[in-house]
Amino acid sequence: MKKAKVATLWLDGCSGCHMSILDIDEAIAAVAQKADIVFGPLVDAQVFPEDVDVTLVEGAVSSQHDYEQIKQVRENTRLLVALGDCAVTSNVPAMRNPFQVKKLLERIYVQGVDTKPGIPTEGVPTLMKRAVPVHEVVKVDLFVPGCPPPAAAIGFVLGELLEGRMPDLSSKVKFG
Ligand code: SF4
Repeated sequence: MKKAKVATLWLDGCSGCHMSILDIDEAIAAVAQKADIVFGPLVDAQVFPEDVDVTLVEGAVSSQHDYEQIKQVRENTRLLVALGDCAVTSNVPAMRNPFQVKKLLERIYVQGVDTKPGIPTEGVPTLMKRAVPVHEVVKVDLFVPGCPPPAAAIGFVLGELLEGRMPDLSSKVKFG
């Protein structure tokens, strides 16, 4: 039987949602029987493949790089899952939203910095005006709240999606 392709994507998040994916422990064996993980921080692939069946997205869309990545991932993914409160609501990354990006960067990189103050311009992605939830940029097929979502819920989501069912999460997740 042909295996499904599962990917994960790390946008503006703390990696806690990916840690929760790793915490699904022995359930990963059941997932591995049905799917290959083809992209994300858990594997070594450098290029997002075509025709991915399920992508779990951690984090808000905060930078131009995030924006371009999520657009490309959406084009190549059948079912896109917003995983965790940062992806679902923009949560922690949105705490910067009340401030202008220029003033924010000056506060962090210039004011009160003793050694080589200056806003970095090379090798860092340009920040968007606001950090936004994934669904403000692309269509999301399933929202899995939690900070992070419990490992059991992630295992359930993957199991159901790989069986061709849309999971009912009403009693399995909550915000925060
Ligand atoms: S939802 Fe929570 S655990 Fe997940 S990336 Fe955001 S802050 Fe981290």
